[in-house]
Amino acid sequence: ARRDAVTRARAEIDLAALRANVRALRERAPGAALMAVVKADAYGHGAIPCARAAVEAGATWLGTATPQEALALRADPELPDDVRIMCWLWTPGGPWREAVEAGLDVSVSGMWALEELVAAARDAALPARVQLKADTGLGRNGCQPGEDWAELIREALRAEREGLLRVTGLWSHFACADEPGHPSIAAQLTRFREMTAYAEQQGVRPEVRHIANSPATLTLPETHFDLVRPGIAMYGVSPSPEIGTPADFGLRPVMTLSASLALVKRVPGGHGVSYGHHYTTPGDTTLGLVPLGYADGIPRHASSAGPVLAGGKWRTVAGRIAMDQFVVDLGGERPEPGSEAVLFGPGDRGEPTAEDWARAAGTIAYEIVTRIGPRVPRVYV
Ligand code: PLP
Repeated sequence: ARRDAVTRARAEIDLAALRANVRALRERAPGAALMAVVKADAYGHGAIPCARAAVEAGATWLGTATPQEALALRADPELPDDVRIMCWLWTPGGPWREAVEAGLDVSVSGMWALEELVAAARDAALPARVQLKADTGLGRNGCQPGEDWAELIREALRAEREGLLRVTGLWSHFACADEPGHPSIAAQLTRFREMTAYAEQQGVRPEVRHIANSPATLTLPETHFDLVRPGIAMYGVSPSPEIGTPADFGLRPVMTLSASLALVKRVPGGHGVSYGHHYTTPGDTTLGLVPLGYADGIPRHASSAGPVLAGGKWRTVAGRIAMDQFVVDLGGERPEPGSEAVLFGPGDRGEPTAEDWARAAGTIAYEIVTRIGPRVPRVYV
């Protein structure tokens, strides 16, 4: 049955590696709780299996963007009830009553969100768990310092006194933690300390204060506070080349993406390959067909650039990546039918890594793993 499910292409997910990565991250932040960031289907790795594995390895919080993602985790009977689940992308008209009833921690960056959550708490006749998010310099979500923050704190405390909510956290997010020494890091940290101190002076008693994503968890111990929120590092992928390789931190890539070659054929020199004929065979050769394309999340920007291990050697994508398939030039070799093409994996069996694909596509490795689409079965090993 497993073979049937995986004949075309498969993303193997090494949950033992994920557990080991979580343990390695906990060792880097020994005084802090760990929130496993499992948004976007655990960066393409599968939210439920990864959440379970992360919790087994000691994560006590799970983090998602949307409330729908968080509710799906809460509905999993195998995750312990005391695992806290936080979602941070508030949008108007969301399932906030369900979120309150499910005991989710919901991020609030402004008054729209606060008012809607208070209304949801009234409907549910239960206090909402609210984590107030400060914009310490990211310039994206989060409450501005100054009068906006003062108003948000004042109104949250008022609702807390009425039993409509509990401020469980004060938190923020870095803009440039993956660029070692970037001056915004220290500036954000100072602002975070100021904004949390102000909230606490006003009477907020958070359970957790947190700001550290993967690069901060790995390299900036002064940012760990009560909880760290690694995402990409848990999947064994480096946040950026400047931070280092996964191996530098004892992390192992979790996803291996491979496919069986669907066709191998001999062609003469001068043969145009794939849409637009951006590749022409330099001489007599063999072409291998890889049954994965941009509909599966293989970036079209990596046309003529993405690396693939096939027939024991690195090959480069020949010409354009199409919706469902692309071609590699096998240089005259004729691998056995069903022979494997490995797009990326941990790298220790000679295969490329997600970082290699990111470089080939002019993007970040986060996007490479996260975009692998639903047509590709995840096989948990
Ligand atoms: N915290 C928040 C609010 C996020 O949006 C993310 C992901 O972007 C993370 C933590 C995890 O970041 P990373 O994957 O860099 O560890």
